Amino acid sequence: MNLPNLPGSDDVADDAAICSAKGCRAPAVWVLAWNNPKVHTPDRRKTWLACEEHREHLSQFLGVRGFLKDVVTLEEWEASAAGR
Ligand SMILES: [Zn+2]
Repeated sequence: MNLPNLPGSDDVADDAAICSAKGCRAPAVWVLAWNNPKVHTPDRRKTWLACEEHREHLSQFLGVRGFLKDVVTLEEWEASAAGR
């Protein structure tokens, strides 16, 4: 399986928050925060966006690799980012 096609940015506070699943153009509802210990420092968080339909698929993809750190709604994620 290929990694989903991602824009080269960690910025999820974009106006058009679209699901990160390959080929999906649905609005994102979820934020999956992940970290690949082979390439990222432990406190680094990469983010994928997911629509309702792809949340489980993308979570599993990251989960089986041990990369998945957190799954929150986009609303919560933006609220916590704004509070930083
Ligand atoms: Zn999707």
